[in-house]
Amino acid sequence: MSSDPKASIAQMEKIVSLCKRRGFIFQSSEIYGGCGGVWDYGPLGAELKRNLRTAWWNTMTREREDVLGLDASILMNPAIWKASGHVDTFADLMRECSLTNKRVRADHVDPQSGTVLKYSGAQSPTGWRWDRTITALTKSGEHIESFRKRIRALIAQNAGESAGKPEEIELIGEEKIDAVNGSVDFHPETGGMLGEARPFNLMLKTYLGPTATEDDVTYLRPETAQAIFAQFKNVFDSSRVKVPFGIGQIGKAFRNEVTPKNFTFRSREFEQMELEFFIKPDEAVEIISGEVAAWHEGADLSEPQPNWGWELWHRYWVDQRTKFYQGIGLGDVLEYYWQTPADLAHYARACVDILCEFPFGTEELEGIAARGDFDLSAHQTASTKSQEIFDEELKTAAAKLTDEQKEALIQKRLAAEAAKVKGEPMPEAAVRAWFERLFKGSYVPHVIEPSAGLDRMALAVIAKAFSETEKVDEKGKKEVITVLRLHPRVAPIKVGVFPLLKNKPELVAKAREVYALLKKHLNCFYDETASIGRRYARQDEVGTPFGVTIDFETCGEKGPELLDTVTLRHRDSGEQERVKISELLGKLLPLVS
Ligand code: ATP
Repeated sequence: MSSDPKASIAQMEKIVSLCKRRGFIFQSSEIYGGCGGVWDYGPLGAELKRNLRTAWWNTMTREREDVLGLDASILMNPAIWKASGHVDTFADLMRECSLTNKRVRADHVDPQSGTVLKYSGAQSPTGWRWDRTITALTKSGEHIESFRKRIRALIAQNAGESAGKPEEIELIGEEKIDAVNGSVDFHPETGGMLGEARPFNLMLKTYLGPTATEDDVTYLRPETAQAIFAQFKNVFDSSRVKVPFGIGQIGKAFRNEVTPKNFTFRSREFEQMELEFFIKPDEAVEIISGEVAAWHEGADLSEPQPNWGWELWHRYWVDQRTKFYQGIGLGDVLEYYWQTPADLAHYARACVDILCEFPFGTEELEGIAARGDFDLSAHQTASTKSQEIFDEELKTAAAKLTDEQKEALIQKRLAAEAAKVKGEPMPEAAVRAWFERLFKGSYVPHVIEPSAGLDRMALAVIAKAFSETEKVDEKGKKEVITVLRLHPRVAPIKVGVFPLLKNKPELVAKAREVYALLKKHLNCFYDETASIGRRYARQDEVGTPFGVTIDFETCGEKGPELLDTVTLRHRDSGEQERVKISELLGKLLPLVS
């Protein structure tokens, strides 16, 4: 990110413009003026997203023996959202502009400075009156007359036709209040004074059923995770898996964000890729393995071990996810924020946000939380359906413990409960009842949750890949060349196929042949228009990592040794090499997958 805010905004504008111009991302409902916080992916965006989705799915489920997939519905029984806590607490603090009623997330208001002006009301020759105190902040460098004009326009917009023309609105009883410095009490866009912070639930309500009464209210899911918890038992019972194992899901999520912003970064409809990785409680690990391995700097996280407790599993998933991001070209723009005990929810043991550098700042890409057994236990209580699993190995190991050893485990847990800084300690009777079930081999699994956003990931790879260079053409004219240096694995088009000249039927026929050969296996683009340099540049701009040119050598005009060979151009190095058509696919496939 540039340290110059103007340069960062300009960079972001260029990215947004490229995304529209080349068919990556469009504003939803654009012909009707858009739809706040909602975006559509064009042909290239759809391919890019699909590649990211596949990369996540393959890495997180197919290539692992211990993770299974799920594809649950967006609409669910609203009892799920009650039990998960979303109905009562999934809210952001929101403040409302006293001038326009525009809302803003309380923590999204940056400090502002300027002069504050106050009016006792407003009126217009139409007879319209507004008996409300108007307090607003002048923008930096704003002339008083421009300020008044702006306030009149905002009032007129809000009041509708009854207030008449903005220029005829009279602002009553102007009073200058002292200048403010670093205040967060004014709306960032309008400058109007903000009201008290109030919680605003982010779930999008809808009705399920034909009567559309309050009894039919449900919600568009605000995260995919809860369906995984709700289907935990079905997956477990139908798949012959053992804890530790995970369930992964990719799908749409909806949040009525108070201030959607930064292009697709904060949207109201987006896609999540979430894994719930279920593990044994540490006490079960201790009973089976005799100890719970402690994490230390440099600990070997390459292969999961039977003596891992939640902490090592959490570290393992942070490491796995980091490797994933390295594999799609984001390795060098990541940062980590380890939530402090004050940040953490009462049930969470640890949570790390994987942050990524965007032009507008370093922001969250993925959260990885160790959530204990909070979610499954909440659903167990609310649904009254047991979410416990039975662990034969644990039962056998517990049977070998002496009463003293069992009591020592209970005492250790009681001490931990007493030392809790957040949330209520579990009463002794409940602790003892829990251990009684544990010694018989039964427990509700604990969970590690890596939760990523697909849209943020797509934006991150585009922003990271965006580069501009200045070139001077033969006539001495300066030209800015945009190259999207997308990792070949995620690039929407993998190969551009070009006949050197379009008016040479033998070149075109051969190029078509090569295109047909490649496109069965890779997303290719055939282009015969304009100069070859122009065609390369067009593909560079959308991140195509390879170009294949069919020229006279291919057709054997420069000797038999070059017959059926093509020029393979590498976008990033500019290197061009001669490759046999019969070897092309074998060379390209490993580079793009
Ligand atoms: P934030 O603090 O940025 O609002 P969050 O901590 O609420 O995010 P989670 O609930 O942990 O996010 O969701 C997991 C992931 O889903 C996030 O890391 C992000 O990638 C993605 N995500 C969440 N909200 C949005 C959104 N409004 N638009 C796009 N992606 C989102």
